[in-house]
Amino acid sequence: MQIFKFGGASVNNVDRIKKAAQILYQYKNEKTLVVISAMGKTTNELELVVHAFYEKDTDKSLALFHEIKRKHLDIAAELLKKPLPVLLDFFTEVEWLLHDKPVKHFDYFYDQVVCIGELLSTAIVSAYLNETGLENKWLDVRDIFRTDNNFRDAMIDYQQTTLNIHETVWPQFETSSLVITQGFIGATSDNESTTLGREGSDFSAAVFANILDAENLIIWKDVPGVMNADPKKFPDAVLIPELSYVEVIEMAYYGAQVIHPKTIKPLQNKQIPLYVKSFLDPSLPGTLIKKQLLINLPPVIVFKENQVMIEFRTRDFSFVGEEHVTRLYQIFKQHKLTPNLTQNTAISFLCVMDDHEEKIEQLSLESAEVFEVNVTRELQLLTVRHFKEAHLNDIIKERTILLRQETKDVVQVLMAG
Ligand code: ASP
Ligand code: MG
Repeated sequence: MQIFKFGGASVNNVDRIKKAAQILYQYKNEKTLVVISAMGKTTNELELVVHAFYEKDTDKSLALFHEIKRKHLDIAAELLKKPLPVLLDFFTEVEWLLHDKPVKHFDYFYDQVVCIGELLSTAIVSAYLNETGLENKWLDVRDIFRTDNNFRDAMIDYQQTTLNIHETVWPQFETSSLVITQGFIGATSDNESTTLGREGSDFSAAVFANILDAENLIIWKDVPGVMNADPKKFPDAVLIPELSYVEVIEMAYYGAQVIHPKTIKPLQNKQIPLYVKSFLDPSLPGTLIKKQLLINLPPVIVFKENQVMIEFRTRDFSFVGEEHVTRLYQIFKQHKLTPNLTQNTAISFLCVMDDHEEKIEQLSLESAEVFEVNVTRELQLLTVRHFKEAHLNDIIKERTILLRQETKDVVQVLMAG
């Protein structure tokens, strides 16, 4: 048993879906469960639909939704010989809701609407595979992944989900070697749709891998594997052939857009290897992520733009103590803000974060009673793991350095200009 996950970019248009299908043909004799994301940027587009709906702009929300509908129907028409009635069922469900009034919490509506992205993409791909001779079973993962009702960030009920997987997923493999389903979504015990947090499909795939005791998980992406830096910013970026689970978690912590850190735990628990491979060229080896710690890794570079430095200085010149920091972290949590770097001095606490303007303003307001708050914008944060001074100098060049923090293995440099 193996688990595959195809991201949105790999099912973004007809050609790409055909490419993904090619890969599945190659593996057709192995038991494979495939998790597929919503096509391209569909999740973002659905988010706009929900916002318009919640602002009571029914016409706008319907118009935006119409676009999404059209895109999927166009792709289905081009790919499939027969019509696919289930698509219309999904559309109707959302349209009904959009005609209603937003009487419940935003997050609730978000999940009811946004979940459709993965249902549509998987239904289309599954039908295409069936028509072209690759028999498969399509499963609605909302019948499998049981979650709590913390909409938009739902937590999986592992006990019930495990039971469901044993009852619903295993039997499919008696008659078919291929099962197609969704990631990122689930449902409560009241059958209300939920989502597990953005970029949640990798995590879902890892949970499937864990519960099904898969031999491995392959995440198919539009890059050759995990790179040591973003090739768009660093043309010298190289592929890292092997990484440990811990390294990946560390990289993600510093903001590398590799794999969602939540994904690693279910794999690590059962030591299931994770491959990141290119769907554009499946013959490339990709990156293997496994338990063993590796030495001689290349420098791993994470460059974050649009950073803001916030300095909190106690108004009464008292030392920054536990209560201060605890209070600040409460406010961070409330606004879902995570510092990318922090530093303490006697009377000030300094942190660097992604610049979410509104939230930062809120944060300044809420902490103003105790602290004098100073905000500096338009900064960049560079983090290099396994660094050598020479790498750094190359990148920093004539930038102004506002702050530098380092341990034996990691250096972080905050820059302006
Ligand atoms: N479609 C969802 C998102 O874009 C989940 C995923 O692709 O991982 O966040
Ligand atoms: Mg994605």
